[in-house]
Amino acid sequence: MLPRSNSKMQDSQIYVAIDLETTGLNSSTDEIIDIGAVKFNENGTIDTYSSLIKPNQLISKFITQLTKISNHDVLNAPKIEDVKDEFIDFLENFPIIGHNVSFDVGFLESNGIPITQPLIDTYQLAACILPKDTYSLANLARVFNIDSWDMHRALPDAETTKTLFTKLTEHAMELDPDLILQLKKFSRNSQSPLEMIFEKISLDQSKKNIYGTLGSLGYNRQYLEKRAKSIKSNNQNFTNIINNLLVSEVFSSAGTLSKIIDNFEYRNEQEEIAYSIWECLNENKNLLLEGGTGIGKTLSYLIPSTLFSIENNSTIVISTNTINLQEQLLQKDIPSMKKVIVESTGIPSESISIINLKGRNNYLCLDKWETQQSFSAISYNQARVFGKINTWLNTTITGDKSEINIERRDGEIWDSLSSENCYECLKRSSFCFLKSLRKKSEESQIVITNHSLLLRDMVQGGGLLPEYKYLIVDEAHHLENEATSQFSNLFSSDKIESLLNAINSERGLINIKSFVKLPSVKSRKYLQELSGTAEKLDQLVSKIRLENQNLFKKTANLFHGNINNNSYDNNNHLLFSEINNESWPSIVKTWKSLAVFLIELMNLVLEYKKSFSALEKLSTNGTKSMVQSSFTDIENSIELVQQIGLHFFIEDNKNTIYWVNQKQDELPTYNSAPLNVGEILRNKLEEKNSVILTSATLAVRENFSAIEKQVGLNDSDKLIIPSPFNYAESVLMCLPTDMPSPTEKNYTKKLSETISEITKSLKGHTLVLFTSHKSLRDSWKYLTEYLEGSTIQIIAQGINGSPNRIMNSFMDNNESVILGASSFWEGVDFPKESLKAIIVARLPFEPPNDPIFRARSQLFDNPFLEYALPNAVLRFRQGFGRLIRRATDKGAFITLDNRISTKRYGRYFIQALPEIERKYASTNQIPSIIADWLHKNE
Ligand code: SF4
Repeated sequence: MLPRSNSKMQDSQIYVAIDLETTGLNSSTDEIIDIGAVKFNENGTIDTYSSLIKPNQLISKFITQLTKISNHDVLNAPKIEDVKDEFIDFLENFPIIGHNVSFDVGFLESNGIPITQPLIDTYQLAACILPKDTYSLANLARVFNIDSWDMHRALPDAETTKTLFTKLTEHAMELDPDLILQLKKFSRNSQSPLEMIFEKISLDQSKKNIYGTLGSLGYNRQYLEKRAKSIKSNNQNFTNIINNLLVSEVFSSAGTLSKIIDNFEYRNEQEEIAYSIWECLNENKNLLLEGGTGIGKTLSYLIPSTLFSIENNSTIVISTNTINLQEQLLQKDIPSMKKVIVESTGIPSESISIINLKGRNNYLCLDKWETQQSFSAISYNQARVFGKINTWLNTTITGDKSEINIERRDGEIWDSLSSENCYECLKRSSFCFLKSLRKKSEESQIVITNHSLLLRDMVQGGGLLPEYKYLIVDEAHHLENEATSQFSNLFSSDKIESLLNAINSERGLINIKSFVKLPSVKSRKYLQELSGTAEKLDQLVSKIRLENQNLFKKTANLFHGNINNNSYDNNNHLLFSEINNESWPSIVKTWKSLAVFLIELMNLVLEYKKSFSALEKLSTNGTKSMVQSSFTDIENSIELVQQIGLHFFIEDNKNTIYWVNQKQDELPTYNSAPLNVGEILRNKLEEKNSVILTSATLAVRENFSAIEKQVGLNDSDKLIIPSPFNYAESVLMCLPTDMPSPTEKNYTKKLSETISEITKSLKGHTLVLFTSHKSLRDSWKYLTEYLEGSTIQIIAQGINGSPNRIMNSFMDNNESVILGASSFWEGVDFPKESLKAIIVARLPFEPPNDPIFRARSQLFDNPFLEYALPNAVLRFRQGFGRLIRRATDKGAFITLDNRISTKRYGRYFIQALPEIERKYASTNQIPSIIADWLHKNE
């Protein structure tokens, strides 16, 4: 939003709250259909304005559903030109208040209604003072109990905005005056008219003799420390109270768990897993454990591991695949586990200490924060995020961003403030969230983390996880992929360009002298030195730019005549071993000359820094820390480019896959990944007393050798505990007899026809699993045609939004078919009775051109049977696992890839599933077979 001029606030200030309804979101092509406005002051409403507007275009069904304004309603309404002048008169020159006000103002201005008065956005105001909430008008109305009638009509929404503004200012009055002054500063530094609102609040507070207690930063680092320390773990010695019998007792049919869990069903599978885990931890053994769906696996590892940790006073690290799963553990399973332990041992709940650790970029770095919040000019978006963080700093004890609402568009602002890349900082002395977490983690019995942090910590160190000897990895089948992405590298022309921009751009290093106010005479000598070095830097940056272009132009030439197009993602990949030997020396030569320039660049930057430090001593303003951090960032970036260049052009690590990647219409990039993750992890895992890897899909044909190799875990016990569900009665598998092969031309059409017929017969309730986004999109095109006119909603990953959004739409309306790619093969849980069929479009083999897959395949004598097939079978089982999540679920599993019947290897897929009923039939019979079966069995 473009902030409008600030003006001083009058006592008894009049404002106008406005809202518009429009035919769409684009102010250049869409039109206004409803205007509402409320003129008010602190005594209440003075006047209102409301008018429907007749647009020059038709109002869509969607907008009519949303606003309840139909084409009929506006038939006799005035045109915008007819009401323009009276609305301008109504607005007078009072500050305008709106929720996302720039949207409304954009429409008013494009209709010739000039807006010059200050604009106050209740969205921005709410985001500054309510760090945890979501900021839609509807949600904020709920938060403040505002009786909002007829949402999405202009006048009621303007009324709601008016009330919201009043409530927000009342809420702000309750905040510490020092915080209000800080919020005022952010508004002023971003030229936002909210400055006058915070100024008014500040004045009102001083009139009421309310004084600040937080100090000039609007929060107090010492208070933070005190708060963090107040949450103490109460570890006492409880050894010799827990024994083998206790573990069995907890899980027995009348044991503690049965009293804690609602609708508890005794499962000997659960008891067996719990006892095996207890035994492995006690006997310092490793365990590979496959536990099927529905056993209650999470509690069966949480309870014995916590008991073990208490008994032995040792930390146990539990890693799961994602931050969401970490949160799920904390919110759902850990409270039950605690209750069980308190009940069965008498140990007080506060003596069970558990900490949740995430990657560093989840935590605020107070040093970066204190530097950035002191900038005298910030953007409107920064003002919103800074305000939110400053308010939150008065309540948080963790500094974990999940406690506040950092919106997607503000991700970059958060990244610049996060603790990522603060590796040396743990040695510093003042309070820091990371240091505090690290300390707490050392005192905790259970540390919950995710694979990415676990692996980074294991291999690169970094100081967030404590010393530990016992490790449990859930969703362990992800470990290899996560390690691959953690230990991957990428080198691009953009990386060099952004380094050069940090030196030579409007806000780059070369123009840094404008950051300091200098007394003229004394500084002349140093200024001359600085300008001399700046000139040299400028020339060198130009040379490096040319060499950078040269390097990547030569790299792009590698693909001439060597196209290895991957039909799965339209990428070309070239393994280094496939690069023509004649081209490579010239590329390496170009890198070497670039590397020489980079050494020169580092020297010049250091020279520049020296001259600048001399000047800085004469500086009259406090920009020191900001400039220092610019220098540090640039020095680090130069080192990083040097290291990564060495990695790609000089080193030749036998355990690394190197390749060049070229996306259509983009410059190529250099990439690398570990060839054998097991080689990297083996030593690290051997240092542990006991490592337990578990998942619902870990073994292939009851054999764990693939996972053992992948992660380098030797000498482990193995256990497979199948799911207790009765799949024979709950699943019907359908295999078509007339599907063309996936390589045949008419395959996608036939696939889409069959999907369409199945979803029609089941009225949606269907998930289709694809192995590539391209085939998903192709099928989506056909389906939109085949399902036109039906009530079935098609929701496609990548077309209708993120997997989360798709799941939400499906939950709102089960009469849907989801077209899902990788994210839907596992990890998604459908609510009871919402899913009736899963269709596998293709057997989930890895894309054969994927460079990592190609390179790893070469490690096997028979890459297809030993590598490609086992991986595909595991994936297939994961897809199948989405269908039955509880004992009462029923559904059909249809594989529309005819290779499952026509190829010899097809039987491996079928045998990998539990015993289920199978039907072979033609594609036009399958829909009715499924419908009949469900009818009989539901
Ligand atoms: S110690 Fe490191 S992470 Fe903590 S505030 Fe300082 S720089 Fe940031």
